[in-house]
Amino acid sequence: MAKAPEEIIRDEIRALSAYHVPDGTGMVKLDAMENPYQLPSELRARLARLIEEAPLNRYPDPGAGALKARLRQTLGVPAGMELLLGNGSDELIQMLVLAGARPGAVVLGLEPSFTMFRMISTFVGARYVGVDLRENFALDAERVLAAIEQHKPGLIFIAYPNNPSGNLFDAGTIARAIEAAPGLVVIDEAYHPFAEKSFMVNLARHSNLLVMRTLSKLGLAGIRLGVLVGGGAWLAQLDKLRLPYNVNTLTQIIACEVLQHGQVLTEQAAAIKLERGRLLRELRSVAGVTTYPSDANFILFRISHAERVFDGLKQRGVLIKSLHGSHHLLADCLRVTVGTPDENAAFLAALTHTLNA
Ligand SMILES: *Cc1c(COP(=O)(O)O)cnc(C)c1O
Repeated sequence: MAKAPEEIIRDEIRALSAYHVPDGTGMVKLDAMENPYQLPSELRARLARLIEEAPLNRYPDPGAGALKARLRQTLGVPAGMELLLGNGSDELIQMLVLAGARPGAVVLGLEPSFTMFRMISTFVGARYVGVDLRENFALDAERVLAAIEQHKPGLIFIAYPNNPSGNLFDAGTIARAIEAAPGLVVIDEAYHPFAEKSFMVNLARHSNLLVMRTLSKLGLAGIRLGVLVGGGAWLAQLDKLRLPYNVNTLTQIIACEVLQHGQVLTEQAAAIKLERGRLLRELRSVAGVTTYPSDANFILFRISHAERVFDGLKQRGVLIKSLHGSHHLLADCLRVTVGTPDENAAFLAALTHTLNA
């Protein structure tokens, strides 16, 4: 008799609920921080030609040499630092947690933040400790330093700007945490295109610092490419955990070509930032809405009966993200991705209709 899942699968895995991705087909999709703009048609035509000639019968370039050289330039990687590529930054988070998951090892994250830090720690059997942010989502220096002292985490994740709150934490406080940390500190800069501030320039100063980037929020969520930057001594160890050919041929070709015309994505990010300001002003003027400042491509806001508002928007064809119930600091909070001017207008109209219904 073969055993049942409950006899084989670890308890903590069976206790998880699967990462739920709602179906946004046919909706105004403002739930996942995607860039709403397509690439220009000439660039798409060039990509089509490159894909036509791609050697799909061969394994990908295992070291992704050409892509790494291109990334080194476009990300402004400091001299002497190395790069490790992942199938999205999610895979890099997985490699980091796997590598550090000695018995008793602690992964420290801030709450609320990107849920993958906690989830992947659970997958891998590492102990995750979440340190609450302040009520305004600022970093609480005393609380973070006390948690580092108490739990001695081998790995600390800090999203900069933070998701789902959208703010940049105080850089001085982060630097204090890096100095106090007994292990690695990973600054996750997924929203860098909309914030510009970065810890990349601090890499040489802190030997226990790594900086993570992704092309997802910049406009290439579909190709799955994450980048970890830091000292070679750390990355060489992590690289042993990387599955061979984790970055496929099409991703390498497309990323190389698009980054060569990186101006396009920078211009789109600038348009999104402009829209962010407009959306923030408009949202602020809606009675009963409290907005939070954002350095990312989304806005967190609080509104009473958030779940009902979320459902009302969905009925009107607009999909955003409800965070109500995910953390006590996020009660009645919703998160909307900045879309095109038309999409944002559709969202605001649906919000007004929902509130007046
Ligand atoms: C969206 C997001 C990511 C996801 O990155 P992928 O490269 O798409 O896997 C990573 N970190 C944060 C904080 C995010 O919000």
